[in-house]
Amino acid sequence: MKPVIAIVGRPNVGKSTLFNRLTRSRDALVADFAGLTRDRHYGNGRMGEREFICIDTGGFEPVAKTGILAEMAKQTKQAVVEADVVIFLVDARLGMAPQDRVIADFLRKTGRPVILAVNKAEGMAYTTVTADFYELGLGEPIAISSAHGDGVRAMIDEALDAL
Ligand code: GDP
Ligand code: MG
Repeated sequence: MKPVIAIVGRPNVGKSTLFNRLTRSRDALVADFAGLTRDRHYGNGRMGEREFICIDTGGFEPVAKTGILAEMAKQTKQAVVEADVVIFLVDARLGMAPQDRVIADFLRKTGRPVILAVNKAEGMAYTTVTADFYELGLGEPIAISSAHGDGVRAMIDEALDAL
């Protein structure tokens, strides 16, 4: 079975943009993977010779108890359970958000390998992009641009090498 990579992060960090780049599709539904439910966005990912399953998630609002945000958080948690490795996306333009800390704490508890990727980093210096995020305690942040492709291959290599 191909490795499963879940993309998580708060709304608007660029998860779906990354998913679409990795799967080269707008919304690739993958139905033939035993044990995976079908109500999230699954896609076949490929980077060079390496193939994987990618899960897009709707965003992470861990404080919500009811309603659509709670439902999204539930789905995100389920995606993490299904994943072999998690890509945690944060936003280089906005820097650290309180929600990022909550998500980091959640991810640490799951015990899944986590790749911390700082998105929207095109045209920015690496140290500027990543300085904020070391304190999350998830290792060396990787600077990427989902929109332009910078760093995406290195990120996937690191994610798959973590398995
Ligand atoms: P999601 O809510 O996490 O799925 O985020 P989306 O993929 O919908 O993207 C949210 C916004 O960020 C959109 O306006 C995207 O065009 C923009 N965006 C995504 N990736 C990048 C990037 O690498 N660079 C820049 N500058 N903007 C991006
Ligand atoms: Mg999205």
